[in-house]
Amino acid sequence: MTVKETLAELVAIDSVSSRSNVEIVDYLAHRCEALGFEVKRFPYTDDNGIEKINLIAVAGTQFADTAIEVELSLVGHTDTVPYDPNWAKALKLTETEGKLFGRGACDTKAFIAATLSAVSAVSLQQLKRPLALIFTADEEIGLIGAKRLAEARPILSRYAIVGEPTSLRPMRAGKGYCMAEILIKGREGHSAYPALGTSAVFGGARLVTRIEAIAERLRSEVHAAFDPPWTTLNVGLIQGGTAKNVIAGECRFTLEWRPIPGQEPGRLLELLYSAIEEEKTVHPEFVCEVDAARADEGFETSPDSRLVQLLEELSGVEAGTVAFGTEAAQIAELGAEAVVLGPGDIRVAHRTGEFVPVDELERCVEILTKAIRRLCL
Ligand SMILES: [Zn+2]
Repeated sequence: MTVKETLAELVAIDSVSSRSNVEIVDYLAHRCEALGFEVKRFPYTDDNGIEKINLIAVAGTQFADTAIEVELSLVGHTDTVPYDPNWAKALKLTETEGKLFGRGACDTKAFIAATLSAVSAVSLQQLKRPLALIFTADEEIGLIGAKRLAEARPILSRYAIVGEPTSLRPMRAGKGYCMAEILIKGREGHSAYPALGTSAVFGGARLVTRIEAIAERLRSEVHAAFDPPWTTLNVGLIQGGTAKNVIAGECRFTLEWRPIPGQEPGRLLELLYSAIEEEKTVHPEFVCEVDAARADEGFETSPDSRLVQLLEELSGVEAGTVAFGTEAAQIAELGAEAVVLGPGDIRVAHRTGEFVPVDELERCVEILTKAIRRLCL
């Protein structure tokens, strides 16, 4: 089966994160077993009561009660973002002018199709060091499948290639992704008599100003490999109050930050909590709750890593860094020197009409085949 045919079959399976991924996992398990892999499913139930599965396929070793060790893992997420119902061919891979269109064609089914083609070009009986394929669930809604695997630790990997659209450029580091919901509680009252209440909006505004100062301060902690080279902060949503003539009783906003690797996601929270304490010393009536909902660390693999150098050689491109979130940090927790690489451009991912260029898809097969041969044979 050609890599395009495989991609067409993968795209035809609707695997939007809100649905169960059992169908695509069954398809992948069947394909892997036919090639001689041993497969194991790691099921869980998501927050909506829907069954999700992480799938691991191994060759050159066998599953055991303890964590198995492999030389190389190829990692791809099985889920996609939703698609517009008006996109009639979202699940029908369509080729136009050297591009393959379809939901997930770019992110990240192209990488998965390339993985299946690459492993079928290698004689698994000849592996000297074990190889694993890791197919995860729920990447698009918070790396949930990968986080579960990182916790369960069924596998340890020396090297891992994490599939995401990078136009085949190896990416050896990525920023983390963190988020907190912040609620300021005031006291309502008639706006003509400010002394009767406490404005949560004024309080929220003062805290946002302090957060802006934290953002400035963090610019002095630089990681030169990134653009921009520091942890970035964003207050993307803010709301509060009920009417123009009512002292606002509540104000809430969302703080998002993307920490550079090496900086603990908790570093910003510490700065936030001390800003809140400072605010309280100035305004003792200031009341605030912080729900630190998400704290995904970044990852970094040394430019001297054998995998980084190998993928630079095979792709012909110097390794870079990514500012978007990937599963590489969780895979690194499984012991791996991780590099993100895949066909397609992240800027067209998640859009109606996302596509992968055919030549990149085919070059990805070559790169993965060579990487397996060099690391596992
Ligand atoms: Zn992706």
